[in-house]
Amino acid sequence: MNANHDSHEGDGFGTRAVHAGQPPDPLTGALMVPIYQNSTYRQRGPADPIDGYEYARTKNPTRSALERNLASLEGGRHGLCFASGLAAINTILNLLKSGDHVVAGDDLYGGTWRLFEKLYVGFGVTFTYVDLADLDALRRALRPNTRFVFAETPTNPLLKICDLAEVAKIAHAGGAKVVCDNTFATPYLQRPLALGCDIVVHSLTKYLGGHSDVIGGALIVSDDELAARLAFFQNAVGGVPGPQECFLVLRGTKTLHLRMDRHCQTAGRIARFLQSHPEVTKVYYPGLKEHPGHAIAAKQMNGFGGMISFVVKGDVERGKRVAARTRLFACAESLGGVESLIEHPPSMTHASIPAELRRARGLDDGLIRISCGVEDADDLERDLQQAIEAR
Ligand SMILES: *Cc1c(COP(=O)(O)O)cnc(C)c1O
Repeated sequence: MNANHDSHEGDGFGTRAVHAGQPPDPLTGALMVPIYQNSTYRQRGPADPIDGYEYARTKNPTRSALERNLASLEGGRHGLCFASGLAAINTILNLLKSGDHVVAGDDLYGGTWRLFEKLYVGFGVTFTYVDLADLDALRRALRPNTRFVFAETPTNPLLKICDLAEVAKIAHAGGAKVVCDNTFATPYLQRPLALGCDIVVHSLTKYLGGHSDVIGGALIVSDDELAARLAFFQNAVGGVPGPQECFLVLRGTKTLHLRMDRHCQTAGRIARFLQSHPEVTKVYYPGLKEHPGHAIAAKQMNGFGGMISFVVKGDVERGKRVAARTRLFACAESLGGVESLIEHPPSMTHASIPAELRRARGLDDGLIRISCGVEDADDLERDLQQAIEAR
């Protein structure tokens, strides 16, 4: 899990995306890391494994390559991979005890909120949700027993931005560690460890895998002791990915920089198109000057990402109709793949929130979320236009 295994430190992002953590197979020179489809390893003698390879829940060479690659991309010392993003987040929560407190953003990924509220509240952990863009609200929420501040930026689906360096300063002054779910930004656009965060979380299912063909998760940290504790839980709980999944994500990360440039370019253009459309009342995209988090995003990110949310005039039915009428944008949950996706949060990902509460949280009835893929921007724009204008 240590990034220094084969050193590409000092190389640029694209070079590390292609090479870090995955030298050619020493046995054959095979360029791609093999899918080590095995559960155990023959040891030189009793309790004398080769390079720590004893049993594949604990360590697998395909997984180790991915863990080193991700650590390098995030600028961390250690990477740990899991069977899903939620399994990765659960492993952070394994560090908590009854009586501990967590401050989290108020626009969290729904599955993260469910894990907090439906499991860990029952174990005696308490959670306070605040808008992390409001630093005074964060200061007020911290308590002597606050162990973590859990941030997402940009958030889902409103693409709110928080200032990670400021959040880290305030959390650390209060004795709490900072976790950043970096799934929406990816390490190409934002590196939370360099901004002072302690743990980076990823759903590998999204941009890092990038091809809508794998479920996976990861944690990246620099602190050796914290890494050792998380590695203990990774092995003790066992929510690890298989080698095939790791191979697919390694294939994905090789083109992360290329894909993200394209996602950002297309999303910037589509956001401006939506802004100019008379049937669209709001556009949420951190790359737009009007976005309240624009200045912070410009400071802490290298691009504004491929996700856009917008509101069409009318009721829930109108929103559903737009999401049903696109031809290229597939109506589906998830995000971050090469193919464009569209969803209507009020009737899909956020349908479990009662309508009044949903509206109070700023999720209008006509809210649509899109994940801009890497198809031609002209075609994507035309597709949205016909879906918005269809009656
Ligand atoms: C999808 C997602 C998760 C959960 O990841 P899974 O791989 O689906 O378990 C967590 N956080 C964010 C921001 C996500 O988009």
